[in-house]
Amino acid sequence: MKRLYFIACTLLLMACAGTKKAATPCIQSNLVPDGKLWSSLFQQKAAEYKALCIQAYNIATLRLEEAVKQSSAKPKAVVTDIDETFLDNSPYAVNRALRALDYDPISWQEWTAKGIADTLTGALSFFNYAAAKNVEVFYITNRKEKERQGTLQNLLYYHFPFADEQHLILRKDSSSKEIRRQQVAATHDIILLLGDNLADFSSLFDNRKTTEQRAANVQQLAAEFGKKFIVLPNANYGGWEEAVYGNNVNLNPAQKDSAIKNNLKGY
Ligand SMILES: [Mg+2]
Repeated sequence: MKRLYFIACTLLLMACAGTKKAATPCIQSNLVPDGKLWSSLFQQKAAEYKALCIQAYNIATLRLEEAVKQSSAKPKAVVTDIDETFLDNSPYAVNRALRALDYDPISWQEWTAKGIADTLTGALSFFNYAAAKNVEVFYITNRKEKERQGTLQNLLYYHFPFADEQHLILRKDSSSKEIRRQQVAATHDIILLLGDNLADFSSLFDNRKTTEQRAANVQQLAAEFGKKFIVLPNANYGGWEEAVYGNNVNLNPAQKDSAIKNNLKGY
């Protein structure tokens, strides 16, 4: 086995030497993983990030206080995303990026099965406050059915309210959350939506919109942000990153590097 490994390494080195002047470098690009280390550092260490989370949940609390004073025919509810809206998955990103790797579904599900993600500052207090005001919380997430147990375990560990089968609505077929929002709206008056990704709020952001379309749709919905839509920051991943890659899920690391550089504005 050692001999085979030696031969493989020798062949790889020879291949690299032979293509030294070629356009494609043999050294794997690190732009994406290094970027994720940087954004994870911000998420884990910047007090500014904590302040942004607190700010979001303070506004959510104000809006909830206003909404509960209004009468409605149906019981009131808050709809929230989970990942990077109130659970912090930056340890997963770090684990991958330190090995020059990015997200993949298998390693992601190994992480969520542990049910150990920490909560974002301010989140738990807000959801408990909603429950105290008789506002139900529905967790609409694109985690998959096989992630149900680990997700519930994570929510129950921190005693999130309404952490049960009825209120945890996972992804089945479509990544769009519109149908699931409508299911909740059929029986409840949705007073607030919380998320880190614009598709957590509106179907306008479904179906792989371009960076320009996403920006235009934000302008169209501008009056809702800080009102019915409460946005949490996520510099690590999301629809914005996919748009940078032209919504092409098959780009290799070098192609992603090119896409990132092509999207950046310098002077
Ligand atoms: Mg999320």
